[in-house]
Amino acid sequence: MKTILVTGGLGFIGSHTVVELQNSGFKVIVIDNLSNSRIEVLDSITKITGTKPNFHKVDLRNKKEVKNFFDLNIIDGIIHFAAFKAVGESVEKPLEYYENNIGSLVYLLQEMRDRNIDNFIFSSSCTVYGQADKLPITENAPIKPAESPYGNTKQIGEEIIKDSCNAHKLNAIALRYFNPIGAHESIEIGELPLGIPQNLIPYVTQTAAGIRSQLSIFGDDYETPDGTAIRDYIHVVDLAKAHIAALKRLLNKDNENNFEYYNIGTGKGSSVLEIITAFQNSTGKILNYKTVERRTGDVTAAYADTTIANEKLNWKTEKTLEEALRSAWNWQEKQSNNHS
Ligand code: UDP
Repeated sequence: MKTILVTGGLGFIGSHTVVELQNSGFKVIVIDNLSNSRIEVLDSITKITGTKPNFHKVDLRNKKEVKNFFDLNIIDGIIHFAAFKAVGESVEKPLEYYENNIGSLVYLLQEMRDRNIDNFIFSSSCTVYGQADKLPITENAPIKPAESPYGNTKQIGEEIIKDSCNAHKLNAIALRYFNPIGAHESIEIGELPLGIPQNLIPYVTQTAAGIRSQLSIFGDDYETPDGTAIRDYIHVVDLAKAHIAALKRLLNKDNENNFEYYNIGTGKGSSVLEIITAFQNSTGKILNYKTVERRTGDVTAAYADTTIANEKLNWKTEKTLEEALRSAWNWQEKQSNNHS
């Protein structure tokens, strides 16, 4: 049985990936500093899978803590989620973002080098493409200057990993996520945004639940069929499964390059208005919304060409947009019930 370290394993994508890892027969060790996650998620994962992952509260910014962890644990591979992820906040606090997202990555890679640990999966993002010239976006699309310190940490992160793979016989895969949404069908785990949600789907579900009075559509004057911006929304469980596929590729030594990167999306773009309609149709809830100015830094359209990921990772999405939206709503309803 292979032991996989999942950093940030109690977060949104991390927790869903831990579930899929355990369901696939991996032994999982989670480290998380609980800066944007709750310890109760550990029990939720246990409920779903019947197995409690081994958990260590470790702050990856603390080199000594990281070293101590590796002194005590034997690891076959790492899936690295732990990072700050709020685009707007990263503009206000760039140094915190660089320290956390880059510093932690370097410490992990140093430990891997020093202990001959191979197999690294990195959470990257489609933000590395900026506004791509061609749609759908293939992995060959040029990397555009980052729009935010957050986006820059993903670009720099990939560069650091590529250099480490070349210098230290490391094998790694970066997964460039499009827009992850939804929740596990058990509704034991899901997205837990802190404060006012910045992302569309949590804002939609909180509006439907009456927590927010009105959803704002950020711009209806984009060059798209209905004027609203287009994204590729992928069910988080499908996204989690892409990590298992990537990990198996590395463990089986099927990878063709020591550093590979893949687009992880559905291949289908949906506009904000289409999301609103699909949400209303699949949940029966009516959304109160208005149109406001565009949000700074938003691109017009981004959706993935997943041909290469489908073929090389032997992976494809299985869930529909409607399922994803319904699961997000079921999760929201559960949160609302818990707090009423
Ligand atoms: N969006 C919106 N209202 C909101 C939040 C987001 O209209 O309250 C739009 C946003 O402008 C973008 C899309 O929804 O076109 C997805 O935004 P999100 O922040 O979820 O993800 P991003 O693609 O920016 O990472």
